[in-house]
Amino acid sequence: MMQALGVAVTVVEMLPELLSTPGLDRDLGQALRAVFTARGIVCHVNTTVRELTTAGTIVRAALSDGQTLEADRVLVCVGRAPNTQDLGLASVGLATSPKGFIPVSDTMATNVAGYYCIGDANGRCLLAHAASAQGAAAADNALGHARACTAPIPAAVYTFPEVGAVGLTEQEAKAQGIPVAIGKFPLSHLGKAMAAGHTEGFVKLLRHRATGALLGVHMIGHNATECIASAGAMLHHKATVREVAEVVFAHPTIGEAIKESAEDALGVALHLPPRPVIRVPAGT
Ligand SMILES: Cc1cc2nc3c(=O)[nH]c(=O)nc-3n(C[C@H](O)[C@H](O)[C@H](O)COP(=O)(O)OP(=O)(O)OC[C@H]3O[C@@H](n4cnc5c(N)ncnc54)[C@H](O)[C@@H]3O)c2cc1C
Repeated sequence: MMQALGVAVTVVEMLPELLSTPGLDRDLGQALRAVFTARGIVCHVNTTVRELTTAGTIVRAALSDGQTLEADRVLVCVGRAPNTQDLGLASVGLATSPKGFIPVSDTMATNVAGYYCIGDANGRCLLAHAASAQGAAAADNALGHARACTAPIPAAVYTFPEVGAVGLTEQEAKAQGIPVAIGKFPLSHLGKAMAAGHTEGFVKLLRHRATGALLGVHMIGHNATECIASAGAMLHHKATVREVAEVVFAHPTIGEAIKESAEDALGVALHLPPRPVIRVPAGT
């Protein structure tokens, strides 16, 4: 946002790529860095800020690669930590993890009967809508119901272009030994993206090769944070990728890219060049 307002922006990221967060596919960070770089945002990845010092109105950042950056302002946005010390949790028998989170089951129950923990403090997913969903489930369960809170949680990143993601990433699926087929559709092929003047980005969709299940959808591009809601709904209702491909999306919309990526994962994308793959038989 600051860069769009004319500010010279430099990003320093300790991890190997931007958006190296669980739940965000690695392709998203790579694509975002490419867009940022083309726009003139300087991105240092694999780089640590060793020291920040001020000299008058200037801030100097000493980087691990030996460079020193100078800036008018520094925005520090490193992680968050639970604030659970000194609450007397142990006095009622509540356990905490080594990092201070309060472990819970899928019903948000802690290790002590009658005590529930929702939101950031349980460390499951540090997002506002996750906390809300967990709170509703915990309230039900405290009243005697047995409701698990296991719905997929979408993530939204408000960069230009936006990022939206839900479900497994390719890297997570591979680490779990899940065989995946990938569908990918570039927004540059969409009429709405062309009309809006925002053709950057893509949708990447993961399909379980054996069961055909939808596993995850990762999107970067115009309105990605809105479009990801439809993918989240289909993932929540355990749709197969074939079922996603059969959904009719309005044209022209950016969301059409989700259907197109599902078709691509089946080798039948209408608006992409033919793939050198065998089409997935009907029914899977
Ligand atoms: C800068 C920033 C941007 C974010 N942007 C987004 C976003 O765009 N989308 C998104 O989904 N999430 C976002 N988040 C994360 C989101 O804010 C949290 O996941 C969410 O607020 C968690 O809700 P919670 O109820 O668990 O905790 P909190 O909202 O932190 O609520 C905990 C409350 O407990 C109070 N409290 C703490 N200790 C005590 C005590 N001893 N006694 C009584 N009260 C106490 C605190 O003051 C606080 O009001 C952002 C977080 C930050 C820091």
